[in-house]
Amino acid sequence: MSAPSTAVAAAPAEFLGHPKGLYVCFLTEMWERFAFYGMKALLFLYLTKHHLFADEDGYLLLGTYAGLAYALPLLGGLLADRWLGMRKAVVYGGALLVLGQLGMAWTGAPASGVQGAGAQDAVALQVMYASLALIAVGVGFLKPNISTIVGRLYAEDDPRRDAGFTIFYMGINVGAFTSSLIVAWIGERIGWGWGFAVSGVLMALGLVQFLFGQRHLLGHAEPPDPARLRAPALAGLSREAWIYLGGLLLTVAVWQVLQTRVDLGPLSALAGGHEVTLTEVVAVVLGAALYLWFLRLMLSDLSARDKGRMLMLMVLITVSALFWGLYEQSYGPWVAMADRVMDRTTFGIAWTAGQTTALGALFVIALSPVFAWLWPRLDRRGWNPGYPAKFGWALALCGLAFGVLAFAAAHPGEDGLVSLWWMVLAYFVLCLGEMMLSPIGLSAVTTLSIPRAVGMMMGAWFLFSAFGEIIAGRLGTWAALDPGTTTAQALATYADVFMRMMWIGLAAGAAMFVLTPVLRRLVGPRA
Ligand code: GLN
Repeated sequence: MSAPSTAVAAAPAEFLGHPKGLYVCFLTEMWERFAFYGMKALLFLYLTKHHLFADEDGYLLLGTYAGLAYALPLLGGLLADRWLGMRKAVVYGGALLVLGQLGMAWTGAPASGVQGAGAQDAVALQVMYASLALIAVGVGFLKPNISTIVGRLYAEDDPRRDAGFTIFYMGINVGAFTSSLIVAWIGERIGWGWGFAVSGVLMALGLVQFLFGQRHLLGHAEPPDPARLRAPALAGLSREAWIYLGGLLLTVAVWQVLQTRVDLGPLSALAGGHEVTLTEVVAVVLGAALYLWFLRLMLSDLSARDKGRMLMLMVLITVSALFWGLYEQSYGPWVAMADRVMDRTTFGIAWTAGQTTALGALFVIALSPVFAWLWPRLDRRGWNPGYPAKFGWALALCGLAFGVLAFAAAHPGEDGLVSLWWMVLAYFVLCLGEMMLSPIGLSAVTTLSIPRAVGMMMGAWFLFSAFGEIIAGRLGTWAALDPGTTTAQALATYADVFMRMMWIGLAAGAAMFVLTPVLRRLVGPRA
């Protein structure tokens, strides 16, 4: 890759009151999320219907893959901070993403036989695992860095910063919404491979857009030391070349990790006697390492105020994993429910099961302005709940969303199917919860963290999203059905499992409310 071609401009160019670079980041992340969520809407259906994975294996792979995609940003962020700079990391990650999405389009022959015991196309399966690995590593390089660039476009005290992040979060959801409608439809109605291919082509357009727009980043995303990055470091290769090469080696490793299960031997009682995925083991090790790092930080010479704020942030980040563990059921068991026991026709349109995931992004888009309006007003009256209470609400609302679906599954219509409107309501409640946690968490990271650890804490935020995905995969297996399950039995299983998930959300929310006063004392009343 060539030397940075961007020069730091004197006066930042603006558009609609924000730096032009914001729109470059908005569009890049929009297309990246378009590809990511379109694929995610299809993945469980594709695995179970095309490759005839057993439900359980489908849920586990969904969680494993998405978990890795959210864990790798920790590494991608670190490499960009230290050496690569964000602009180059985004370009490299984008290229891997395009390859991965296009690789998914190679679907091979459908498996024959029964679900869970079909004869699968082994080559196509390996291409799929490799493609998932490319996507996970690509997200790792792109996602944290495009988000950090947004932060850098504004001065520390620029009052437009929050609005900038809100606009950026909208980009994420515009991408997710449109792709769930378009990619899921193409995948389910025309052919799985076509759906994935469309994602790949549009991600490529997103990358081209970034290449053209990168000059608007005004040098904020350049490598910290370009000369050092380019100089030969080892075996005649520069650090830059080593990073790119390392990314490919990592992809090969992830390709294997994705399909590896481990028998814990004497420790298997810890996992309820099950085999576990290698990703689950890695997650536990990474989580322990992160807590050790945090412990060291807390034992260092930070001020009491900084320690209190960091501790609160770590609690919030930890709690977020449970939220995502429930929330991400929407791409697993909720899709399965929509596919198997739901009457999905409304307004004369027969929606596909994958398309129902669009509801999540739709409500985020609709609710974002409402909450952006609401928070400052509540704040002025002194009614703005602090971070811990918001997280408590998020968990409780998430639990309630499962309550809605559990009720719906227990009360099907006369045709024996659940009405799509229950899912609309469940998504509405779920997204009320998301609004209290997801954008709030990003803001909490940037305000509560000590400045020198912001990058690491942002990585930790996504790492706990990763844990959430992995938890989601495991929890999802509760909803696994055997082939030949009748509609009535399926409904009974969904009702029972979603009821259990409701209690988890409500109990966790209640625990957070109990903890709120304790946590608030750590940081003072205004956080
Ligand atoms: N929906 C948001 C995104 O894709 C946040 C997801 C998360 O942090 N788990 O960026």
